[in-house]
Amino acid sequence: MKRVLITGAAGFLGSHLCDRFIKEGYHVIGMDNLLTGSKDNIEHLFPLENFEFYYHDVTKFVHVPGELDYILHFASPASPIDYLKMPIQTLKVGSLGCHNLLGLAKDKGARFLIASTSEVYGDPEVHPQKEDYWGHVNPIGPRGVYDEAKRFQEAMTMAYHEFHGVETRIVRIFNTYGPRMRLDDGRALPAFMSQALKGDNITVFGDGSQTRSFCYVDDLVDGIYRLLFSDYHLPVNIGNPSEITIREFAEEVVELTGSGSEITYNPLPKDDPKQRRPDISKAKAILDWEPKVDRKEGLKITLEYFKGKLVY
Ligand code: NAD
Ligand code: UDP
Repeated sequence: MKRVLITGAAGFLGSHLCDRFIKEGYHVIGMDNLLTGSKDNIEHLFPLENFEFYYHDVTKFVHVPGELDYILHFASPASPIDYLKMPIQTLKVGSLGCHNLLGLAKDKGARFLIASTSEVYGDPEVHPQKEDYWGHVNPIGPRGVYDEAKRFQEAMTMAYHEFHGVETRIVRIFNTYGPRMRLDDGRALPAFMSQALKGDNITVFGDGSQTRSFCYVDDLVDGIYRLLFSDYHLPVNIGNPSEITIREFAEEVVELTGSGSEITYNPLPKDDPKQRRPDISKAKAILDWEPKVDRKEGLKITLEYFKGKLVY
């Protein structure tokens, strides 16, 4: 049985990746320090023989006994309010954590995949964003702690590939949503859904003309799975190119929930990207991948999940 280590396993994406690898017949070792994740997300896996959980901070030396075939590094605060609250941990998990895990990959002869992000493009001046765009990031702005940690991770990953011959993969993930997001993680989708369900005002930041492109989690996981088993080591965008303004998105959530909530306009956070849409032609060509779940369908599934989580 092949063995895969997934860091950030108790988080939103990490837990879905654990499920996928278990389903595909792997032995999965989940690692997490529960900084922003929750054991609830992986509790259902605890009784399984082919699942192990290590409570560990990956910025400290990482030791895993036995062989490892694959390492997926997903540990990191990911929501803007999380990484603004924990700037040093965010920088450390992206740099020291990534270094530890690359060292482990080299030692074990494991293939390494890093969770990078559309944030490496910053507030992009090119639209849609293609992998060959170098980005427009403010290193000393509030989002710099996340964006630069991720850019460093990509550089470190490429260096281990070039200098140590480690097999590496880099996925640039665009906004993803679905069950197991935290209702209070401050990202637009959980914020809007919880506000709509409670009948509170919907807090759109700025005038809501900024855009995002939301990808359902199962589609993302499938793209990551395909990338890991491809032979392509350069970055690949995985996301849903269906772009929407945040104002329209808020309206969509209000309509879906049948809520009487009103939309209110609050100040736009500093360095908030004005537009974001992935160019996925590389993923299509190399991985034969494109998203299958449209936003209406994905939002309905996510809404049902949140309904079960909401404390009124
Ligand atoms: P999340 O906060 O739900 O999960 C992150 C997990 O990492 C949490 O369980 C947290 O406890 C864990 N963690 C943080 N620091 C750690 C440390 N030092 N040691 C061990 N565990 C640690 O976030 P998510 O949305 O699932 O994001 C997962 C990864 O995907 C992150 O690397 C993020 O940057 C990346 N990503 C996510 C998105 C998205 O839309 N969700 C977009 C781009 C990139
Ligand atoms: N946003 C908003 N209201 C909220 C939370 C976020 O209008 O309560 C906006 C935010 O300013 C950004 C967009 O929604 O323009 C997406 O924000 P999110 O935090 O989900 O992700 P990111 O900015 O990292 O793409």
